[in-house]
Amino acid sequence: LVSRKKKPENTVVNLKGKEVGNGELSYVFGPCAVESYEQVAAVAQSVKEKGLKLLRGGAFKPRTSPYDFQGLGVEGLQILKKVADEYDLAVISEIVNPAHIEEAIDYIDVIQIGARNMQNFELLKAAGDAKKPVLLKRGLSATISEFINAAEYIMSRGNGDIILCERGIRTYEKATRNTLDISAVPILKKETHLPVMVDVTHSTGRRDLLLPTAKAAIAVGADGVMAEVHPDPAVALSDSAQQMDIPTFDQFYKEIKEVEGRLK
Ligand code: PEP
Ligand code: MN
Repeated sequence: LVSRKKKPENTVVNLKGKEVGNGELSYVFGPCAVESYEQVAAVAQSVKEKGLKLLRGGAFKPRTSPYDFQGLGVEGLQILKKVADEYDLAVISEIVNPAHIEEAIDYIDVIQIGARNMQNFELLKAAGDAKKPVLLKRGLSATISEFINAAEYIMSRGNGDIILCERGIRTYEKATRNTLDISAVPILKKETHLPVMVDVTHSTGRRDLLLPTAKAAIAVGADGVMAEVHPDPAVALSDSAQQMDIPTFDQFYKEIKEVEGRLK
């Protein structure tokens, strides 16, 4: 169902009025994890000032170590909802458990399925049954074919509002946290009719690489870019090394818009 052969025209996913995949670039910014109302509101303010609509933030965090911050859970979703209402934004947040979808649905606008859960088939089925758009991230070691099949799980249950997100894959290279598979973007665009985004934060794990990789994503035809922003990354409870502070975010966005203008 997700194949371009079945549907030649691009799918456009509407996120509370913001269309993703309509030819214009979309941007998703926000903290790695929701930590407090003030923290999310500070980022939302900056997103709003740029005329943007999409805000991310994790409430259920899939952490490598059980001793690391696991997220605020439903309290985090409540914070996101309050901020989204105040700033008229659409929020994207990861759900890690099929049983949480029903509870989360009233708080969020987009269900994110994270890399670690790309082949959690029960979660994919539950997201396919939900009446909310889904942002599906590529698995840590998933092939493009497996990634496309994961999207097929969602669509086969009747939910066609899917955005694919390349977020880097595991290779032998240690200079970056993951290896951004930039060629996945044109391949996914060719093989499927779904919008494709690139998460530059988790692909690289390096703040100094966010801008060059975002430029590459745009140049190669991505429909959007995701990056993490935190008012004070040094004290962030997760992904401290790669989130941008607000002034860096301002500069990042300015330079990205310049590239966007040049490529038009
Ligand atoms: C995230 O976007 O918050 C995240 C955990 O990313 P990933 O699933 O790609 O590692
Ligand atoms: Mn993160």
